[in-house]
Amino acid sequence: MDKQKQLFLAQPDLAEMESTVLAARSHSLGMAVAVADNIVRPAGGGEPRDRGSVRYSDTPSCAIVGAEKGEGLTWLILPNHAGELCSGRSIVVNLDMEHRQRRRRLHTAIHLAIRTTINHLGRGFQVADAQIEDDALTCWFSGRFARSLTDAEIISIDRSMRSLVLSARPVNVATAKSVEHAERSYGELFRMSDRYALSGRVRLVCVEDFDVNPCSGLHHVSSDIGPYALDRHAAPGGFTLRIQLTNAWNYWHGTD
Ligand SMILES: [Zn+2]
Repeated sequence: MDKQKQLFLAQPDLAEMESTVLAARSHSLGMAVAVADNIVRPAGGGEPRDRGSVRYSDTPSCAIVGAEKGEGLTWLILPNHAGELCSGRSIVVNLDMEHRQRRRRLHTAIHLAIRTTINHLGRGFQVADAQIEDDALTCWFSGRFARSLTDAEIISIDRSMRSLVLSARPVNVATAKSVEHAERSYGELFRMSDRYALSGRVRLVCVEDFDVNPCSGLHHVSSDIGPYALDRHAAPGGFTLRIQLTNAWNYWHGTD
């Protein structure tokens, strides 16, 4: 079988791709299809999958209802009514780019918010989990810390993060031979959650002069993620900070 090309990391702005079917098989929801030139990112690393649709021959366009990794391929899940597909057929995949772009903004927002929080609370704070919600309007991270955040802390975290957003620092991807190599190269800018143990080459997401973190996700090209609102919740062993994309800046971020 020909190898599948994964295009979404190198070309995250690619919204449509005409390609051929490498393999097709039945699936509990209908059918699973692997496309030669794949632009659909499956869920992973706390980020939901891409949304989109496919068209082929004279069938109407049909929504992608899932995206799964298996046997070294990314499989698009199509519903029962999608009709017959077999390998070699031509197929057009279209992405919901608004969903993709919101996810990229939120993913960059998580990097900005976590590093800003570390800068305010010190290394005694540790990230426990981080997620982008399925609708790509909100993301959150939970932190292990001795207590929840005070009003003064959340206000100063929000102020620092807003100034980062307004300064539009470039966000770039780099690679390092190893975690140790990245630590040596970037010093204090480098951080890595103790949730992970990575070996070999690492993909690094770098917010210029601010933060370097191993991550395999898709990110907005700068720290200018647009208006957002923060709110925090106390949680056992620490707190949760939510970031919601908004249409305009609001004065107060919280629910208090
Ligand atoms: Zn990331």
